[in-house]
Amino acid sequence: MADELLRVENLNKAYGDQPVLHDINFEVNTGEVLVLLGPSGSGKSTLIRCLNGLEPYQSGDIYFKGDHVTPSSKNWQKLRQKIGMVFQSYDLFPNLKIMDNITLGPIKVQKQAKNVAEKEALALLDSVDLADYAQKYPRELSGGQKQRIAIVRALALHPEFMLFDEVTASLDPEMVRGVLEIMLDLAKQKMTMIVVTHEMNFAHQIANQVLFLEEGRILESTPGAQFFTDPKTDRAKEFLQSMD
Ligand code: ADP
Ligand code: MG
Repeated sequence: MADELLRVENLNKAYGDQPVLHDINFEVNTGEVLVLLGPSGSGKSTLIRCLNGLEPYQSGDIYFKGDHVTPSSKNWQKLRQKIGMVFQSYDLFPNLKIMDNITLGPIKVQKQAKNVAEKEALALLDSVDLADYAQKYPRELSGGQKQRIAIVRALALHPEFMLFDEVTASLDPEMVRGVLEIMLDLAKQKMTMIVVTHEMNFAHQIANQVLFLEEGRILESTPGAQFFTDPKTDRAKEFLQSMD
């Protein structure tokens, strides 16, 4: 039986009196990659932020490994430590060296010993070919390198699943590949992930399941292999054609 990690039931979210998510229902199993697609403004970032406890929502239920979590509850704090999140704008601390950017969370939040955290950070840096950059500052790195560091920083906290919101959207084209490779690698290692992306080839490669959103509603939920060749809705077909 598939091992459910996250389940969302009837999630509704409004900003003020403007509804943005309507009755969102889906689940993600351990080791799966869910790709969220949809036009700009369809609610993808809002949904991701609700899942990370960054946005309150008006109604609905989120379950993590079968446990009900609510934004105000103590178990949400526990849950958030298990979620790694990377955004479009790599928000590294400019005044900290790369090593300290990565080890800050493990040392301060997870109370890891400094030498242990640094050893692991180096191994992670090595895995993304950036071991030589440990003692540099973010301003000395390219956008693509900074985004790889942002991913490493999230991984250093040992997340059980990762949220990626358009992490390559602000990168120069030649930087995109290196970042996507890391995510493909994570998928191979069976990291559970929810990914928002405009890179359709990558989405096709990585998606076990696609949720296609429009105006805050799930128009279809389709296995990745099918979505990109034979989507269920005309709207998704048009969307895919527009992305060519
Ligand atoms: P996407 O990520 O798919 O582009 P968003 O989740 O960013 O979509 O936005 C969904 C809708 O919510 C849009 O109409 C957007 O204008 C609105 N919205 C997003 N963030 C806010 C906010 N902080 N306050 C008010 N409205 C917002
Ligand atoms: Mg967005």
